[in-house]
Amino acid sequence: MIVAKQKPLEEILEGVKNAGKILVAGCNECVTVCESGGKKEVAVLASALRMAFMNQGREVKIDEVTLERQCDHEYLEELRKLIDQYDVVLSLACGVGVQFLAEKYMKTTVLPGVDTCFMGVTEQRGVWTERCQGCGQCILATTAGICPVSRCAKRLFNGPCGGSTRGKCEIDKDLDCGWQLIINRLKELGRLDDYEILIPIKDWSKERAGGPRKVVREDVR
Ligand code: SF4
Ligand code: SF4
Repeated sequence: MIVAKQKPLEEILEGVKNAGKILVAGCNECVTVCESGGKKEVAVLASALRMAFMNQGREVKIDEVTLERQCDHEYLEELRKLIDQYDVVLSLACGVGVQFLAEKYMKTTVLPGVDTCFMGVTEQRGVWTERCQGCGQCILATTAGICPVSRCAKRLFNGPCGGSTRGKCEIDKDLDCGWQLIINRLKELGRLDDYEILIPIKDWSKERAGGPRKVVREDVR
């Protein structure tokens, strides 16, 4: 899933300071799972905004809505009838949802209410960690199912680097060395010979550094 965290209230307030009518829009997918932009977070943020505006002596209309997904035309259409009523839509979806919403309703100001962080997993409630950077050319088959792009701080393809110490990364001693994890898992799988396989230089044009990407599947169009 895409992991995001809510922006500080002060930053959100600064963004909506001139608005008289605000729609706080959540999303039922990833941001609900990572507890940053689902129905519950929409309600909490809307209350905090109401309180803040009340303390400022300002009358601001704040409504709430949570769509099934903000990265899907079908669900964004649900806003068509009401969106013109608002000066600002404060979207708690990930950056993808915020952009898709803004593209669809060009005349409405759409602001992000969360910071989108990475694609990752829920390790335990309140702890999310990165697993994939969407590099466009997955090499997990060779690396024992552990991604060096997202789990090695230097994104090395034939690691570890000389800084790996006792299984920890030299960039941050609290982080496991991604390559140590790969080696450990290869050992457990009895596939340590795979460590000898040289992974070729990556074609980064397939990654987001190569510009915005597109996936088209004729079979499902
Ligand atoms: S190798 Fe690329 S696609 Fe595969 S998990 Fe890592 S970043 Fe994601
Ligand atoms: S110590 Fe390990 S995870 Fe850190 S940069 Fe070096 S190889 Fe990558």
